[in-house]
Amino acid sequence: MSDLRPISHWGLWMRMHEPAGLSLRQQFMVHFWANWEMLKQPRDLVISSLVALIPSGTLATAVWLARPHRRGSVLHGLANDQTVLLLVVIGVVVAWLAAQHLFFVYAMQRWYAPFVRRELSRRGIPMCERCGHRLPPRAPAACPECGVPLTRPQESKAVSG
Ligand SMILES: [Zn+2]
Repeated sequence: MSDLRPISHWGLWMRMHEPAGLSLRQQFMVHFWANWEMLKQPRDLVISSLVALIPSGTLATAVWLARPHRRGSVLHGLANDQTVLLLVVIGVVVAWLAAQHLFFVYAMQRWYAPFVRRELSRRGIPMCERCGHRLPPRAPAACPECGVPLTRPQESKAVSG
């Protein structure tokens, strides 16, 4: 039923939950409060930011180690051949952007998406926090999609606005 992949958080784009049929304004409110709740969890914020920045950190470290502006550096020899130099720079930038995108999506899926799912559940649209599977109003003991044990939400406020 679901095309969400419960275990892996890797993907080309974010899939936080199954369709919830919300208006743009409701989606905005859900994400606003999901962000607010995440801001109150500094550990999740720090870890997700660090993971999301791994590609940029790696590139910065590699550039720093290679010291391309110095004579005798790894890249200095390439400067004689402008075409090769240009291709190397383009290749590095494309690889960095692709990796940066994948790591960002991973960090969002792994650390931010559960806050969105929790906020939807609070608003009376029960979602499995682990995989984003839409649950029936009366939550089963375990998610039928990923099998994680479910606890019933204590509060359930109606979708507003
Ligand atoms: Zn699930």
